[in-house]
Amino acid sequence: MRPRIGITSWLRDDSDRLERWAAVRETYVGAIRTAGGLPMILPIADDDSGVITDCLAAVDGLVFTGGGDVAPAYYGQSPDERCHEPDRQRDLFEINLARAALARRTAVLGICRGLQVLNVAAGGTLYQDIGCRPGTSLLHAARGEDRRKLIHAVRVLPGTRLHAIMGVAESLVTSTHHQFVKDLAPGFRVTAESVEDGIVEGLEQPDRPFLVAVQWHPERMYQDHPEHLALFQALIASAEQTRG
Ligand code: MN
Repeated sequence: MRPRIGITSWLRDDSDRLERWAAVRETYVGAIRTAGGLPMILPIADDDSGVITDCLAAVDGLVFTGGGDVAPAYYGQSPDERCHEPDRQRDLFEINLARAALARRTAVLGICRGLQVLNVAAGGTLYQDIGCRPGTSLLHAARGEDRRKLIHAVRVLPGTRLHAIMGVAESLVTSTHHQFVKDLAPGFRVTAESVEDGIVEGLEQPDRPFLVAVQWHPERMYQDHPEHLALFQALIASAEQTRG
C-alpha cells in the first residue's frame, strides 16, 4: 500500500455563503500523488477527544498546508493590527495535531502556514507582519496571479536535511506569506533563508525521522522543478520507513 499522507484542510464559504466546504487546494493532492503517496484529506475536528489520535493512526505522514495567520495568543503575543483574523477551529486542531505528531515519530512536511504552525506548536514565535522587522522585503507577499511566480531566491544551507533532499544551494521560489519565524522552537534549526533579506525560509528538527518545513510553496512548483517534488518524495519515503 502506498504511504498514506494526511493533508490538513480548511473551511471555505461557498460563493453564495449558504454552505461551507472542507477544502484543500488540488496542488497538494497532485504533489503527493505524483510523489507516490496516497493523499488523505483530514477534517478539522472541534475537539481532541481521540480524534487526533485517530487521525495519526490513520496516516503514515502529514502535510501541514498553507493558509491564514495563527492566533498570536499561541505564541504569547497580543494581536497586532496587521495580523489577520485567525480561524480558531483550524488553529486549535492543527496545533494539537502538530503537538501529537511531534510526540510521535510521524513524518511531517510543513508548508508556509504549516511551517509556522509547527514552529509555534513546538514553542517558537512569529513576526505578525513583514513590517514588524526592519529591512524585510515586500517580495514575500505576492498576491493574485503572482502566487505561482518564482519571485525570490532562497539559500539552502549546507549540511541540512533540506539540502540533501533538494540537492541545490539556491533556488528561486514562490512566496505568499506576510508572517515569518521570529524565535525558533527549541530543537529546530534553520535550513534555508531568503537571499535578499535573510528571513527564515526553512526549518527542520534534526533528531527526528522527518520534520521538514518550508516557507514557500513546493506544491505550486513540483511539476516543473524536480528539487521541489523531491520534498514530497522524501516525506513519502520517510513515511514508508516509519509506519507501524
Ligand atoms: Mn518568502
